[in-house]
Amino acid sequence: MTNLASSGFRQRLDDCIQCGLCLPACPTYDVFRTEMAAPRGRIALMRAAADARIGLDGAFRRHIEECLGCRSCETACPSGVRYGSLLEDAREAIEAGREKSRFERFVRWLALRQLLPHRGRLRTLAGLARFAQALGLAHLAAKSTFLPSWLRRPAALLPPSSGARTGREPAPAWGEKRGTVAFFRGCVQDAFLAGVNSATVRVLQRNGYEVHFPEGQSCCGAAALHLGEAPLARELARRNVRAFDAGGREVDDYDAVVTNAGGCGAALREYGELFAHGDEDSDGARLFARKVRDVSELLADDLRAPELPIAKRAVYVDSCHLRHGQRVVDQPRAVLGRIRDLQLVELERPDACCGSAGVYNLTQPEIADRVLDAKMDDIHRADAEVIVTTNPGCQLQIAQGVARAGSGAEVLHLMELLDRAYGP
Ligand code: SF4
Ligand code: SF4
Repeated sequence: MTNLASSGFRQRLDDCIQCGLCLPACPTYDVFRTEMAAPRGRIALMRAAADARIGLDGAFRRHIEECLGCRSCETACPSGVRYGSLLEDAREAIEAGREKSRFERFVRWLALRQLLPHRGRLRTLAGLARFAQALGLAHLAAKSTFLPSWLRRPAALLPPSSGARTGREPAPAWGEKRGTVAFFRGCVQDAFLAGVNSATVRVLQRNGYEVHFPEGQSCCGAAALHLGEAPLARELARRNVRAFDAGGREVDDYDAVVTNAGGCGAALREYGELFAHGDEDSDGARLFARKVRDVSELLADDLRAPELPIAKRAVYVDSCHLRHGQRVVDQPRAVLGRIRDLQLVELERPDACCGSAGVYNLTQPEIADRVLDAKMDDIHRADAEVIVTTNPGCQLQIAQGVARAGSGAEVLHLMELLDRAYGP
């Protein structure tokens, strides 16, 4: 019996009243215009699979894999369907029963077990990638017609520059102290966009927070969940929950566990759901999850005003997992609203995904490109000089869209722009 036959899964499926109100919110429905490429159709497929009327391969697998997991359908749904958790269960069931080639098993082992959870290895990889970039090899790889797309794509997504890394010792609050927070570094963000993390820490310091960096923290597990590897995601969650409860401090000693990555934050906030009641880490995971805050949430209400004006036209691109997964919508906009002379323009479809979606732009590059094209059309209509994001995947994806269009707009994380507005 797969987890799809469980009564809990069926009950969650039954929340769907098949009204179809989620269809206009779905980016893959936008691309394909078919019922099976939409949330309602995917839920119907899950129901058929749960009833064993269809198998877990063929059309079922294809339509589930083509879902971005952006959860835009969740916020559009009047019936409270928890589509994200249904999708995770469906993917776990597919992966558990699927025969994988030796090559695929190797790539998964390498990426999910040997790279993402190991900060040092990822940093070494980022260093090598930068070296290749300096020699022009990354550019060649991205343009090459000989290499397979799974190698060309990461080369194309490589950000143009990084920045100083955050240290290990606690960073003191500047000015009057308001609190103490634990910082979640992330994996891709830490290695490939280190400047975003260091800008975030400076902004927190300026706002009176002492920032701690618990040792032993790992990847949040979102990529593993996305690929149907729930046991690995649980393992990583366990590691993180324990890391934030070590070194003489408990997670409850912090005012918040702060993240600046929408995708990581959504995964961290749902740690409680990864563990069955009675598991030795179940209570710890629930407490940890309650402490998680996106940095914009922590700062929005009481931000110390940045002094330097930034007289530019900017557009804010919501991270799907921040907007739909964590329901953090107004706070990043409120933070941007405090930057003097910044002209903030709204997109026509602020709720639409950019096609990054975790590892989706690597596993489904053609569809991801079509979703990105639609997003870039919206962004270009806004005619912005600065594009602001709150998630590393979105930042890399949009930067790729900008490079393709040659528009010259600058793509920054919210904290990088705010840090700039505070001045040196
Ligand atoms: S998921 Fe929600 S919005 Fe979509 S068809 Fe079902 S009930 Fe309607
Ligand atoms: S998660 Fe996104 S892509 Fe998947 S069905 Fe929902 S809206 Fe569509």
